[in-house]
Amino acid sequence: MNHLVPLDNLVAALSRLPGIGRRTAERMAMALIQDEKGLTRILANALLEADDGIANCERCGSVTLADINPCELCARHRPDAHVLCVVESPADIIKIEESGGFQGRYHALMGRLSPMSGTGVADLRVDKLLGRVAEEGITEVLIALGTDVESDATASYLREILSTRDVKVSRIAFGLPAGSAIEYSDATTLARAIKGRQEIG
Ligand SMILES: [Zn+2]
Repeated sequence: MNHLVPLDNLVAALSRLPGIGRRTAERMAMALIQDEKGLTRILANALLEADDGIANCERCGSVTLADINPCELCARHRPDAHVLCVVESPADIIKIEESGGFQGRYHALMGRLSPMSGTGVADLRVDKLLGRVAEEGITEVLIALGTDVESDATASYLREILSTRDVKVSRIAFGLPAGSAIEYSDATTLARAIKGRQEIG
């Protein structure tokens, strides 16, 4: 039997998505190529449209329309604009914003320190963070990372480099077990965690 290279490529691409294992990718690929209502082309077009039309905000790192940059959230008046909330990813910004518990500005690091996966300081948006603290009149940096070992290491590192700046550093309090991520927290817990934040270092 001929090797179905295009199918293999599709499975390989789908497998790269978070939470999609090999088996699921194979099922998705089969469903796509056998769909008779044009799903494959609809999906292909949607992917290209998203790729062209969505960008990361040059300031906070969140997702925005490509032609609105800095994003709408950065441009909007915020009552607590002097507080900068540091998160791991754009998904966390959306999550915290939905909780309604925070009225300041955001900064996505685009990862966290992880020797295991080879993510170092240079891979995170740390320089940009320091620049913003200096330029935007920030008086408090609120670290809103999860409660796992890598988040702890990242928070310690940030506390360290921010200790030379004239800024308060706090971290959200979590009413959750160790290993929790912002992404999977419910709105009430998140809002409470932000309200109960504690100064560190
Ligand atoms: Zn932004």
